[in-house]
Amino acid sequence: MSSKTDFDIIIIGGGASGLAAAAAFGRHSNGLRAAVIEKEEKPGRKLLATGNGRCNLTNTDMSELHYNEASRPLIKSVLQRIDPNRLISMFASLGLYCRTDSEGRVYPYSNRALAVLDTLTMWLKKTNVTVLTGTSARSIVKTESGYKVVCENETFRAKKLIISTGGTVQKNLGSDGSSYRFADELKLSCESIYPSLAPVIVKDKELSLIKGVRSAAAVTAYVNGAPVKTEYGELQFNEKNISGICIFQLSRIVNEAFIKGTQKNVCITADLTPDIPFDELRQFVQKKCAALSDMPAEMIFTGILNEKLGVYIYKKANVQFKGRTLGELSSSELDALCKKAKCCKFTPDKPSEYNAAQVTAGGISVSGIDRNMQSKQHSGLYIIGEALDVDGDCGGYNLHFAFASGIIAGTHAAKNEVKKHDKNKRA
Ligand SMILES: Cc1cc2nc3c(=O)[nH]c(=O)nc-3n(C[C@H](O)[C@H](O)[C@H](O)COP(=O)(O)OP(=O)(O)OC[C@H]3O[C@@H](n4cnc5c(N)ncnc54)[C@H](O)[C@@H]3O)c2cc1C
Repeated sequence: MSSKTDFDIIIIGGGASGLAAAAAFGRHSNGLRAAVIEKEEKPGRKLLATGNGRCNLTNTDMSELHYNEASRPLIKSVLQRIDPNRLISMFASLGLYCRTDSEGRVYPYSNRALAVLDTLTMWLKKTNVTVLTGTSARSIVKTESGYKVVCENETFRAKKLIISTGGTVQKNLGSDGSSYRFADELKLSCESIYPSLAPVIVKDKELSLIKGVRSAAAVTAYVNGAPVKTEYGELQFNEKNISGICIFQLSRIVNEAFIKGTQKNVCITADLTPDIPFDELRQFVQKKCAALSDMPAEMIFTGILNEKLGVYIYKKANVQFKGRTLGELSSSELDALCKKAKCCKFTPDKPSEYNAAQVTAGGISVSGIDRNMQSKQHSGLYIIGEALDVDGDCGGYNLHFAFASGIIAGTHAAKNEVKKHDKNKRA
């Protein structure tokens, strides 16, 4: 075994899942040799960008229902083995103290993503794991004794291999779709990919009027005229898209429709006064128009909504406001304006951009993966994290799966290899 290029296990990708797998392997492997191959100059670049630099690493409100439907059986089994409490206590045992906010989102106590990365890399320094940075894996070849990983200047060999190269969003942070190339080489089946947790690009010429405005809203995705998901939160209006966590949570539905070619059947509606029922809003506006009858009509929602939204709602409701006063608005016009404030409709224009998304939906099919994250096709090959067809809601669900699947794979691979090693020694 060449000490520089031969290992018991190679982990391709030093992101959240790969570092967790390496730490778990290092912990259980009795000094067996592991290498993490990472293409960027430093591991965990994306991890540092998560949760706006705070790293929302899991959520105490956990269940497989927060993930894509097709992969829920595998996700359920992962969550049964590593639930949020287990993950938090595992991190505590490595030296990371966490805090939970009122919505169940878990962050490092310091509110710094760097604390999570430092905890993992410090732990790796205590184990027999080598981290090779600035090294991009180009291709994987299955051999009689394991796997060969071909990089630009060197070829590495290992008995076992973990693919943790992520998805393909925000390529500047590392993951560039290599996972799907490896899947092709190894003939692993893949589900179509598309961006999720992203702003939704919409057809709306008037959007530029309210660029930069934020409003509390209840947003609902409709498919074939039926509501399928509602989210509450801060809706952000941009020149060509609508955004905010509430929209991120609906973006999967929209982008999946683009992949299927059924985007015409999908729309998003926004209730801009989610805490005010229609009748109450209507009465309030009516009283206001009577009391301030000589004020300009465009002031109708001033005092309730951001003033720019008033003009936008007039345009969307197709009601004239220029040169008119509040007192001149008819009852049917007030109805139309209040209805619009309660239900602004947005039609998707294009799929979301990968470089604005947080996660890739689709990927290597979980039907070919066993409960230890090992490929059913290729013994000794594990696939973890976002490379798989697993994507979750905003709120710590994607990192939870990345860490949990990494820990399961790293632990299983180590225990299995130690067993073989001990058997060979006895023989
Ligand atoms: C801006 C942003 C914020 C986010 N915030 C959160 C959050 O707060 N909570 C949450 O749960 N999720 C969050 N996510 C999602 C979460 O970060 C990912 O789902 C998670 O990092 C996936 O982990 P992974 O290990 O599978 O992939 P990654 O973290 O993407 O790691 C893959 C690694 O593999 C390396 N790599 C890729 N190809 C190769 C190759 N050929 N050779 C060698 N190395 C390679 C990459 O450089 C990278 O380091 C966020 C995502 C983004 C983009």
